[in-house]
Amino acid sequence: MNSIQDSNILILYTGGTIGSVQTAEGGLAPLDFSEIYRHVPELIQDELTLETFSFEPPIDSSNVGPQHWAQLASIIRDRYHEFDGFVILHGTDTLAYTASALSFMLEGLHKPVVLTGSQLPIGLPRTDGRENLLTAVEIARTRLLDAPMIQEVAVYFGSSLYRGNRTHKESAESMQAIISPNLPALAEAGVDIMYNQPLLFRDSAQELKVHTTMESRIAWLPVFPGQPMEIFERVLEWPELKGLVLSTFGSGNAPTDPHLRKILSQAKERGIAMVNVSQCSHGAVHPERYATAHILRDCGVIPGEDMTTEAAITKLMHCLGRGLAAEDLWSEMRQNLRGEITKFSPIAAVN
Ligand code: ASP
Repeated sequence: MNSIQDSNILILYTGGTIGSVQTAEGGLAPLDFSEIYRHVPELIQDELTLETFSFEPPIDSSNVGPQHWAQLASIIRDRYHEFDGFVILHGTDTLAYTASALSFMLEGLHKPVVLTGSQLPIGLPRTDGRENLLTAVEIARTRLLDAPMIQEVAVYFGSSLYRGNRTHKESAESMQAIISPNLPALAEAGVDIMYNQPLLFRDSAQELKVHTTMESRIAWLPVFPGQPMEIFERVLEWPELKGLVLSTFGSGNAPTDPHLRKILSQAKERGIAMVNVSQCSHGAVHPERYATAHILRDCGVIPGEDMTTEAAITKLMHCLGRGLAAEDLWSEMRQNLRGEITKFSPIAAVN
């Protein structure tokens, strides 16, 4: 039975459109977050205790990076026992990256961390920010029997709740800007909030363990028809490079160019961890399906299965940040750590 009881929620405001108001000159300026109750008075409720924390100054999410993810994860760790749940207000542009990164940073999470944002500022009459914020708070308060309903990093946007590491920003225009291409919504907010309970993630680790080190010395390269192989050469010759995410065609295919094979094998020998994700927003990579995928399999590129690019990039940063040796990194990238993967292709590690 779902219920909402007396709850303590921490709202962390990082910046982005949701927290902006229109200035007299017609531009947008960040909201003084202590004024949030003036814009959303419905937050004042008898059985709800809210505390707010704001980045100073608030930042556009294009400027959010690993140090901000670490800051958010550290606040959640330090204040974990004080609150029933956490709501993070974030710009939509990189919201999917932050949600993915936090999911890997917060191992053994058993409380809700719900990210949301909006397409229109909270100070405008047609804003989607109020509904997103109010419903995110309600979701963070919801309990199932004696435990939080949501015990993972999730994103609430445009009436759907998604697993954070499955999200992707699809539209710069629509109020349904965020999608979860490979996993159905965890909940839909209509008249009632309907939870898809069998999908909810439960971490087998009982204790919260926070990993704040992310390795940023990685690259992300798409393949495209007619691509000069020199691009791969140039990127992979960076002496400090630790990892590469390749965005390939369809179900994980790349040109069968002997030059590419040579470049990738040399990178593998140098210990660069390489992951393959599809350029398609829906579906998974299949390292065995087409001959055009074998080149990647033979060069030890790790199949990213049905992970989003955002999840693959942040998971690689996380696994490299933990200093895992090559074989452990291969198996950890192939593990379903926080519900970020559903489909697995049978393939052995190439060492
Ligand atoms: N540029 C903004 C940001 O991501 C857009 C938004 O909030 O929707 O911070």
